[in-house]
Amino acid sequence: MKKNDLLQVKIETMGNAGEGIGKIDGYPLFVKDALPGDVAEVRLTKVKKTYAYARLERLLEPSLDRTEPRCPLHRSCGGCQIQALSYEKQLEYKENKVRQDLIRIGGFANPEVLPVLGMEEPYHYRNKAQFPFGRSRDGRIVTGFYAGRTHTIVPGTDCAIGAPENKEILELILDFMNERGIEPYDEAAGKGLLRHALIRKGFATGELMVCLVINGRSFPGAEELADRLFAIPGMTSFSLNVNQKNTNVILGKEVIPVRGQTYITDRIGEISYQISPLSFYQVNPAQTEKLYRTALDYAGLTGGETVWELYCGIGTISLFLAQSAGKVYGVEIVPQAVEDARRNAALNGFANVEFYLGKAEEVLPEKYEKDGIRADVMVVDPPRKGCDSACLETMLRMEPRRIVYVSCDPATLARDLKILCADGCYELRKVQPVDMFPHTAGVENVALLTRKTHTVPSA
Ligand code: SAH
Repeated sequence: MKKNDLLQVKIETMGNAGEGIGKIDGYPLFVKDALPGDVAEVRLTKVKKTYAYARLERLLEPSLDRTEPRCPLHRSCGGCQIQALSYEKQLEYKENKVRQDLIRIGGFANPEVLPVLGMEEPYHYRNKAQFPFGRSRDGRIVTGFYAGRTHTIVPGTDCAIGAPENKEILELILDFMNERGIEPYDEAAGKGLLRHALIRKGFATGELMVCLVINGRSFPGAEELADRLFAIPGMTSFSLNVNQKNTNVILGKEVIPVRGQTYITDRIGEISYQISPLSFYQVNPAQTEKLYRTALDYAGLTGGETVWELYCGIGTISLFLAQSAGKVYGVEIVPQAVEDARRNAALNGFANVEFYLGKAEEVLPEKYEKDGIRADVMVVDPPRKGCDSACLETMLRMEPRRIVYVSCDPATLARDLKILCADGCYELRKVQPVDMFPHTAGVENVALLTRKTHTVPSA
């Protein structure tokens, strides 16, 4: 087999990034946009010793699980990988993937994985988007989405999973740039001003935030643009973010306010949160509430417990837990997020929470060794790469009765659960997947570990 060969293949399974996988004489082909059950004509794009990548050229027999995708750009845009798969099958696939990772990577023989909590209406669910700006081949200023694995902009302002307001905001910005001759950033040359527009919406409050990421420190006509943006109902925050580095990282560290607040407010359940441009906030609020309620349920709080929450962001889960705990300590690495967390605790009148700025893997061991802190319940919600081993070791030494592990990556979740259960003191009770990212291959999970023999007296 060689590059550009045209082959026929039946797709059997789905890979980690949502791609279809089929075999020819035992040799696996990874085919983007192909789904299990498809029989397809594919063209080899990259041939390796033990596998190859291929492009879907023609569907010979479409899978029975296919559905008509809502977005015409679903194949060229890198945002959604499995929009052409029926939603029911998406959930089935995700549940299966979590179970397989726990078995293969985690070494659990028969893990209890509950059915995925899905959405009733899995569209327009995202409360945040970061749109890159650039120029098309024919010289127009464009904004849209990066094509998968590249920085080519697929023009489009009307996203099937994004907030409906994005379109109006983006078109207004494009018009403004054309009128004023404002240059979009050119990555190759490192020139031009506007890099990205970060748009956030508080779904419970209707508040809208626009933060323009610029290669500079000021935006010509910012006040007039503010007038236009604030004519959109719900607009409460317009700011600039300075990013003058030649980097793939979207946001710089400095935020310059232009009009309104530098944050928006949103609500999850009974709790209000103020969210700054630089802080992490879950992107799917409807599902976030299900996720947090599950985490709270798994924490099994009765009122007096001491709880540590690592990777706490703006304190969203911490405040959920604080409703039913004695004391909650949160740890987070981003300074603005910790500021938000402290403000959010005050805003909601919680006196029983405290936040520490720093790396979980440094703060926790230090506090444990120096101050002899303890925990009845430990909650963690790390980024994709999972927990640092120093962090896991300290968690084990602290002997909490329960560990609730919230994760956006089943593979690193399985790896870390294996470490936590290795010495036999903890038992994996159950895992609840939550579909935070419909039409993408991602799946969020809440796992509950309980301690078999605990030596720490309860509070
Ligand atoms: N629990 C929060 C945030 C989860 S996202 C929520 O649901 O909103 C993970 C968070 O971990 C981010 O806020 C990120 O800034 C933070 N983080 C990343 N690495 C970290 C580290 N080593 N120590 C502490 N926090 C970290």
